Amino acid sequence: MNAMQKDFVLAVEGLTVSFDGFKAVNDLSFYVDENEIRVIIGPNGAGKTTVLDLICGRTKATTGSIRFRGKELTKMKEHEIVHAGVGRKFQNPSIYEDLTVFENLELSYPKGRNVWGALTFKRDKDVISKVEEIAEMIFLQDLLNKEAGLLSHGQKQWLEIGMLLIQNPDLLMLDEPVAGMSVAERKQTAELLNRITKNRSVIVIEHDMQFVQDIAHRVTVLHQGKVLSEGSMDRVKHDPKVVEVYLGH
Ligand code: ADP
Ligand code: MG
Repeated sequence: MNAMQKDFVLAVEGLTVSFDGFKAVNDLSFYVDENEIRVIIGPNGAGKTTVLDLICGRTKATTGSIRFRGKELTKMKEHEIVHAGVGRKFQNPSIYEDLTVFENLELSYPKGRNVWGALTFKRDKDVISKVEEIAEMIFLQDLLNKEAGLLSHGQKQWLEIGMLLIQNPDLLMLDEPVAGMSVAERKQTAELLNRITKNRSVIVIEHDMQFVQDIAHRVTVLHQGKVLSEGSMDRVKHDPKVVEVYLGH
């Protein structure tokens, strides 16, 4: 590890993935700090989701390195990466619709339990208090006994964020978390993300510029699998290259 890398939670360097010769991510480098909310923006097809797929081990890199707290993630399997402290939320929520909010959170509590084990599991005080703490964070404290399938779209998104938070990841990655949410829900989500970054870093892919403005510490603009621009929201939104390929549309 070189001296420059050691301060970063995540150091992505020279990352490339080639799908039948097409480089969806092309010699990409970026660095994420502790307690940072990094937002990745860019046009459709820029490679944003693929970057998250590479970090969480769902897609294997062709070349390059992804170092997370000193571990080389490109050499690890998906479950090992989760275990190392990386949580990832996909675009569509994957919750158990037939179970309650409480049960969904309880199932995600890190004890290596499966659905069948959890249904007969005697709830201990630690689990209950943790579930209640997380439920409050995700604005669902009054809906613990509601079936998850009956929640609004936004509430389902929050529940899934809660299911990741209860595992206490050091790096949380969210792909378009406010898509389909009302303006009020977007504001609440921004508040939620701003609250959870103590002791963790967050990477968010998002298109809603108001939301990006509300949460981003720094913004990385991707274009054709490469960094087009990077810095504060104010800086990137006035970058003529960004206006040309993305914001101007
Ligand atoms: P974004 O999230 O920025 O919209 P993606 O990362 O989903 O973009 O996709 C980047 C490019 O890579 C797109 O052209 C997409 O079609 C292509 N791509 C993504 N995943 C695969 C795959 N598994 N096989 C082939 N092409 C892929
Ligand atoms: Mg995407």
